[in-house]
Amino acid sequence: MTMERPYHDVETLPAAEREALLLSRVQELAAHAYANAPAFRTRMDQAGLAPADITGMDAFARIPVLRKKDLMAAQTQGDRLGGLMSVDFGRLRHVYQSPGPIYDPESREPDSWGWTEAFHAAGFRPGGLVQNTFSYHLTPAGMMFEEPLHELGCAVIPAGPGNTPVQIELLSRLPVTGFVGMTSYLRSIGEKALEMGLDPRRDFRLRVGFVAAERLSKSLRSEVEDMFGMVIRQGYGTADVGAIAYECRELGGMHATSRGIVEICDPQSGLPVEAGEIGEVVFTPFCKDYPLIRLATGDLSAFNLDACPCGRTAPKLRGILGRVDDTAKVKGQFLYVAQVAQAVAHFPAISAWQVVVDNPGGKDRLRLRYAHGADMDEDALKEQFQAQCKLRPELEACEADDLQEGGKKLVDLRVYE
Ligand SMILES: [Zn+2]
Repeated sequence: MTMERPYHDVETLPAAEREALLLSRVQELAAHAYANAPAFRTRMDQAGLAPADITGMDAFARIPVLRKKDLMAAQTQGDRLGGLMSVDFGRLRHVYQSPGPIYDPESREPDSWGWTEAFHAAGFRPGGLVQNTFSYHLTPAGMMFEEPLHELGCAVIPAGPGNTPVQIELLSRLPVTGFVGMTSYLRSIGEKALEMGLDPRRDFRLRVGFVAAERLSKSLRSEVEDMFGMVIRQGYGTADVGAIAYECRELGGMHATSRGIVEICDPQSGLPVEAGEIGEVVFTPFCKDYPLIRLATGDLSAFNLDACPCGRTAPKLRGILGRVDDTAKVKGQFLYVAQVAQAVAHFPAISAWQVVVDNPGGKDRLRLRYAHGADMDEDALKEQFQAQCKLRPELEACEADDLQEGGKKLVDLRVYE
């Protein structure tokens, strides 16, 4: 067991107490947003809801979601980013621009992006010197990940991305103990250092890394951990809302943050799915200045509800399992590419596959097209597919070259008249 003191006491509260505390915080947030952020008030009014109606998490989940893909347009609908902000621009610390453009206000509240508990869980401690290789220019990443390091009492080298020789010089001349950035970039730094005759384990002092912004495979993580003799942990969040979830030392998923409400919801209705099922990540940060209540991120995940040996009681997200855009509703049932992949993984003979949905004669038809090298037990494949996806496909063997739309995993050819 590696029980450790968490950064916030709420992280290890018994689950029921934790939920009660989060509920009281979201009630306070909703009342504040209703009074000060006109866009939220309109959303509530249109749904016939008032802050006093939020008597529990079920009632909270009836607030219609705000879809990330609608955020850009919503921000243009008037002052204070379309009434999404509850303060004037001059009361903020920074304003960033993300692709879209979407504007990302940064509150002056301490730990405003909420990453400090994540960095603490990863192993960052006071007195560290940390090299931050996220961009400080226009987008929030650099400053967003600098904030928790100051909160924890670390010094930061604002290295930014690129210029690898300088990154290596910093790592070899200064006692840098922590890295923040993308794992793939840390690997490039290590490879370059090896080429230069350095040994990243001996010549650098890196002990802990916090990474984000790309898929982290098991093999990449262990390769880079070995290369530097360090521990790497990842976080999940967005430029709009900051921290959503993060890994502890035990791995096995990313704990939901205690600085907001993490829900897994039906991508269409916005209502929570059954515990443990796949759905869209919907997040509410407790941020009064920019209260993005129930932001539907477009990312798919599911809760792993197993107790974690670290002692944190928040459920863990089972990684990011895809994007909502990569799903289709077939015969009234959501089909997720991640679930199909799980089913197909039982059949190593399958070298390539895709799911094609169409509707000849107005009726949904689902086909699994696949290329295979050896004999296949088609009945077993159908059963496995049905067990994972709750849908029964037609099977169609083909050559890998014959997959449609460049081998896209999910092709939706349905037409509606
Ligand atoms: Zn844990």
